[in-house]
Amino acid sequence: MPTIEKNPSSEDFLKSLGFPTLLVHDTFTHFDFTTPGRRVLLIGPMGSGKTEFAARVWRDAAVAGRKSERVRAMTSTGDVDRRHVFFIRSEIDKSRFQDYPEDALAFRSGYIRCGKDIAHIRDSFGLEEVMRDNPGVGTYIIDEASFFDERLAYVVRNASLEKGCMFIFPTLVLNFRRDLFNNTARLILDIATDVIPLTAYCEHPDCMDPAFYTYRYYTVGGKECPALFFDPLIVVGGDQVKESTAEPNYAARCDKHHYLPGKEYTFFTLKPLGEAAGRGDSASLVKEIEALHSNVEASLLYENFIKRYSDDEHAEKYMSSLLPGLIAEKALCYLYGEQNLISEQLLTQLVFDLDLDIPYMEKTLAANRRPVRFNQPYLI
Ligand SMILES: [Zn+2]
Repeated sequence: MPTIEKNPSSEDFLKSLGFPTLLVHDTFTHFDFTTPGRRVLLIGPMGSGKTEFAARVWRDAAVAGRKSERVRAMTSTGDVDRRHVFFIRSEIDKSRFQDYPEDALAFRSGYIRCGKDIAHIRDSFGLEEVMRDNPGVGTYIIDEASFFDERLAYVVRNASLEKGCMFIFPTLVLNFRRDLFNNTARLILDIATDVIPLTAYCEHPDCMDPAFYTYRYYTVGGKECPALFFDPLIVVGGDQVKESTAEPNYAARCDKHHYLPGKEYTFFTLKPLGEAAGRGDSASLVKEIEALHSNVEASLLYENFIKRYSDDEHAEKYMSSLLPGLIAEKALCYLYGEQNLISEQLLTQLVFDLDLDIPYMEKTLAANRRPVRFNQPYLI
């Protein structure tokens, strides 16, 4: 299969014009709408310009759309024309773009308006509905596809095989933990035919290395506090910089400046405590959650940090990850929502006994597809 968005003949062409031997970079070409059935992954950390690239595809499509019937034949398969681009975004993402018009495809330096060719969907069934309602659309740009259900990967693959539709996924493949984002990300990698990697500069002020990772941090009192490893996978939030314990900020970082404290604690201590609680022995977990909530210096987490990071050159940075609050809430969301280790009954009991932040937990668990309502008094 040819490499797409790359023009191997440009080097020969420049040589033929008499250019001396010099470093020739890949040509940044217009988008190819002629090849049917492509599933294109646009990957890169936050701030690498994924949405901007998607906006370029949109503008290229407008240029190609003004061309002749001959071009239509090249860009169409049956009823679908890949120059007709439609933008798909998640319903839960709506609040991120409140400052823009409803139909805006917004990126860092501006936005384009998509008119009726944009939809906010909840899941893969929503995507099927949009495709049914727009039978002539040939290209779908699906923003942050990892936020949707796994089924989406097969809906997409089948539509591209059966109808020749093209799909473009501007998406994070790695989460802030440097893991594959989730199963949906894994399946989308499986079905992709093309990958366009984008990078950004590491955003650390002392660094010029390329950044491959998304770094999550909170800002407390003007201080950068790295997110703990067991911070919730999905946090719904805006793009603006926030001073908040509940809503993080993101930056693109290189390996060296991507701080991720608490990984050892998560696997060495927190998960085993959750597993024991799942077997009915919850005393140690309750004690730890209590400490995380009201006196973090008495926690096993703190003990681990002192042992692990005291002599590290970034010790202060690592320790500042304990400044944002809600550590107990985050640990419970991890054990219940993500790892499925503790019962809803134990979760509810801890939430009420320790007077944890219910709105934060309900919002976080819902965003991570394990909704719980803590409005019933519990009975033991
Ligand atoms: Zn760096």
